[in-house]
Amino acid sequence: MLRSHTCGELRIEDTNKTVTLSGWVQRIRDKGGLIWIDLRDRYGITQLLMEEGRSSQELIDKARRLGREFVIQATGAVIERVSKNPKMPTGEIELDLTRIDILNASKTPPFTIEDETDGGEELRMKYRYLDLRRNPLRANLALRHRLSLETRKYLDSIGFFDIETPYLIKSTPEGARDFVVPSRMNEGQFYALPQSPQTFKQLLMVAGYDRYYQLVRCFRDEDLRADRQPEFTQIDCEMAFVEQDDVLDTFEGLVRYLFKEVKGINIEKLPHMTYAEAMKNYGSDKPDLRFGMEFVELNNVAQGKGFQVFDSAELVVGINAVGCADYSRKQLDKLTDFVKKPQIGAKGLIYVKYNEDGSFKSSVDKFYSQEDLKKWSEKMDAKPGDLMLVLSGETEKTRKQLNELRLEMGNRLELRNPEVFKPLWVIDFPLLEWDEDSERFHAMHHPFTSPKPEHEHMLETDPGKVNANAYDLVINGVEIGGGSIRIHNRELQKNMFKVLGFSDEEAQAQFGFLMNAFEYGAPPHGGIALGFDRLVALFAGQESIRDFIAFPKNNAGRDVMIDSPSPIADEQLDELGLRVVK
Ligand code: ASP
Repeated sequence: MLRSHTCGELRIEDTNKTVTLSGWVQRIRDKGGLIWIDLRDRYGITQLLMEEGRSSQELIDKARRLGREFVIQATGAVIERVSKNPKMPTGEIELDLTRIDILNASKTPPFTIEDETDGGEELRMKYRYLDLRRNPLRANLALRHRLSLETRKYLDSIGFFDIETPYLIKSTPEGARDFVVPSRMNEGQFYALPQSPQTFKQLLMVAGYDRYYQLVRCFRDEDLRADRQPEFTQIDCEMAFVEQDDVLDTFEGLVRYLFKEVKGINIEKLPHMTYAEAMKNYGSDKPDLRFGMEFVELNNVAQGKGFQVFDSAELVVGINAVGCADYSRKQLDKLTDFVKKPQIGAKGLIYVKYNEDGSFKSSVDKFYSQEDLKKWSEKMDAKPGDLMLVLSGETEKTRKQLNELRLEMGNRLELRNPEVFKPLWVIDFPLLEWDEDSERFHAMHHPFTSPKPEHEHMLETDPGKVNANAYDLVINGVEIGGGSIRIHNRELQKNMFKVLGFSDEEAQAQFGFLMNAFEYGAPPHGGIALGFDRLVALFAGQESIRDFIAFPKNNAGRDVMIDSPSPIADEQLDELGLRVVK
């Protein structure tokens, strides 16, 4: 080995040992007679010392030729530092250098390799291998490694098998576009990269494997956002002979284990909230439970008083912002502007201040007496000093708008602490959702999700009313994962495809393999997939997943480091039968 120790390892107890370190030159300071080098590797930084007169001149000359990011091997004795740095684990010692070997030179890096770098996003992506040298990214990848390892340990301990499924498959309709790969040997035909291993894991259940998991790459050709990448990793799982609660309990176990092992946090039993409750009380199927501010419906007390806007609304609904009665005109205007943004789309915002003296001041004083507003406050459990914020309109839209306002207030009041974790299960999702554009039903989760047995009879007559045995794991307002109990019966699966608008022939052509398998003793089964990149980012208290992936793509789906995607040669196109003849 080209080193006896790492750069993060030496302590005061090692004083007088002669050691060899290898690493990158972080910084050189040359102060008159003293020269220091900060030597860095994955494990930390160790300070190296040379002194004019005491160290050999040859050594000093060599040190003066070094630049940032040179790779060197350094030998010397561990000595106690004169001025110690309590912020560094190695801060009590330094090496009294006797020898430097330059293992490789380096150009001056295009940005500083420091915790706070001066490099812009694009530049850091282009030189990702340099960005990855920085501490914050190293810590992110270390966290990722740890979570991956602990996930495997936990699932292994309860009998899950890690089984790989293919990456070259055929399209499965999971809502997103597929990435496709042309087949050279089958000209004109294409593989698709999996959006998830959904059908394979179900086939593994038919094959009797009982408990399957995989930390698996999935591919979706969607527009990108901070929490989306065209390729991402899922903790993908499936179990046979289970009902919904068995799956929820098993993965609740995983979630609690990970928080305990990796963050030292004890998570309470996860609440179960139905989709209907989540929408009614939070206007979202992924409620952030780090704070309350639940919706309160006010139709009863707010309608029939001559305020046309409320009287004509399907829903009048509000939230109570504790302690905000002192909001200024300007602050209230800002909130109104916020809900009126085109992305949110509310027409206006009604406020009611519950003043400290017990009186009310609202933007609708013309229509409502103090008595009336008192009733609102009772419904909303508001106290003197609070501010009630109310929206109205068509139910679904208004709930979505108020959800945005609730989250905004949560941010303003600093109620969304990234070090607090509030996971929950959202259950009883609708099986289908109506799509205005195509004028037909789509599977809300995916077409393999089973309807609740007691709703099965409505599948053909009233499909919109059917609930599914489907569930999401939500943590702090982020959908971390989702799954369902699956259909394992050919007839029901066939019916389901029919409801989704497939002809029998289309269903057979695309999913015949799965429906055929159901005729050979398919056990009842269900599963879940957790977004691993999101989980890691969440553990680090961050929203963007990009810096938790070693080599991510940018917002345009490009890898600017290797410059991909890129054109391919005509010969390659020919070979694949893809050449367009002009
Ligand atoms: N395959 C699903 C997904 O990727 C998860 C599941 O149902 O297990 O969202």
